[in-house]
Amino acid sequence: MQITENQDLTQYNTFHVPAKARYFVLVENKSELPQLIDFANHKQLPILILGQGSNVLFTRDLNMIVTKFNFSNLQITSQTHDSTIIQVQAGKIWDNFVAWTVENNLYGAVNLSFIPGTVGAAPVQNIGAYGTEVAQIIEKVEVFDLQTLNFTEIHKQNCQFAYRSSIFKTQLKNKAFITSVTFKLSKKPYFNLQYKDLQHLKNNPGLNLQLLRQTIGQIRHKKLPDPKTIGNAGSFFKNPIVSKEQARQLKDRWPQMPQYQLNNAVKIPAGWLIDNLGLKGYKMGQAAVYQHNALVLVNLGNATGKQILKLANFIIDKVFEIYKIKLEPEVNIF
Ligand code: FAD
Ligand code: NAP
Repeated sequence: MQITENQDLTQYNTFHVPAKARYFVLVENKSELPQLIDFANHKQLPILILGQGSNVLFTRDLNMIVTKFNFSNLQITSQTHDSTIIQVQAGKIWDNFVAWTVENNLYGAVNLSFIPGTVGAAPVQNIGAYGTEVAQIIEKVEVFDLQTLNFTEIHKQNCQFAYRSSIFKTQLKNKAFITSVTFKLSKKPYFNLQYKDLQHLKNNPGLNLQLLRQTIGQIRHKKLPDPKTIGNAGSFFKNPIVSKEQARQLKDRWPQMPQYQLNNAVKIPAGWLIDNLGLKGYKMGQAAVYQHNALVLVNLGNATGKQILKLANFIIDKVFEIYKIKLEPEVNIF
């Protein structure tokens, strides 16, 4: 375990906003976790687990023990004729894992290509893209339980996976650290091409995992700012889910509004709601709505977390004023 004091976190969050951690701890092995708890008890400070910081907004210095997990082994634990079960430790970079599945001809993860972050964070908000959610390939999640100080496994049925949410973001928030995730991937080919941007691949005789991954990379490159050059945390807001009745009323007023039917409700793209208010490219000092994608807030250079939050709240108020829909941040705000 490596401990530093008053660590600047600018390089540890993809918004690249400044914030200091009272203590910053690198954990090399999950066997060090009891030691981390002793340290936190001794300092009487809470622990925040940070992955790549690609879904957080720091609005202040953190009087906390900010901890990163450096353990990242990947192990095939069993195989059948049809599938492979793989256990991956929390510190592994998510997209390195996806790239590994593609190289090994395993199906199920490819639509989640190029999502930044760690494997340990993936179940937290049940990461999703292009009609695939990580919940679809998770078997179980191993956690270090802060109450019992034991490692336990939570089977997928008990993870309360939902749209950009899970038990780890709700009931178990600050109560359990994810130490590894076990995935089940298919050896049998299947492709999820339901999203408009991918449909052209349906009739492509050369369709394979590599081509799909490459295509997703190209689309994402066009629509999303690279955090290395423009600070951002991907979609800032969740897409709101409204009742069928509210969706019908909204459609009467805004016939162009895209709507996606869920079981008993309707999902509306938050990006469209913001764009339709003319806010794409809108700037508030160094904080802005990304000019190519209204769902993404960006740091144009020297924005602070507080300034980005101010812009987010301005958008929430505007969207509510016009559509009577309350947008919720997807990003975790500290
Ligand atoms: P962090 O941002 O470091 O942490 C996020 C939250 O998870 C925090 O509350 C943290 O405390 C908690 N956490 C992290 N690790 C653990 C752990 N081991 N145990 C318990 N809690 C933990 N998301 C999508 O769903 N789909 C996308 O397509 C997508 N695209 C993106 C594109 C860009 C350019 C960016 C910047 C972000 C995008 N995101 C997307 C959001 C982000 O990549 C994901 O939410 C990712 O899972 C965050 O991983 P992280 O390691 O950076 O987590
Ligand atoms: P897009 O394809 O332009 O679609 C805009 C929105 O409409 C998306 O948010 C998506 O919802 C929804 N949508 C589109 N087609 C749909 C369908 N057939 N069924 C249901 N919902 C549909 O979106 P994009 O901005 O290029 O992003 C592509 C994918 O990558 C999306 O799944 C998006 O969530 C994901 N992504 C996520 C982040 C993040 O930070 N969370 C960042 C970039 C991209 P969903 O978001 O529910 O899929």
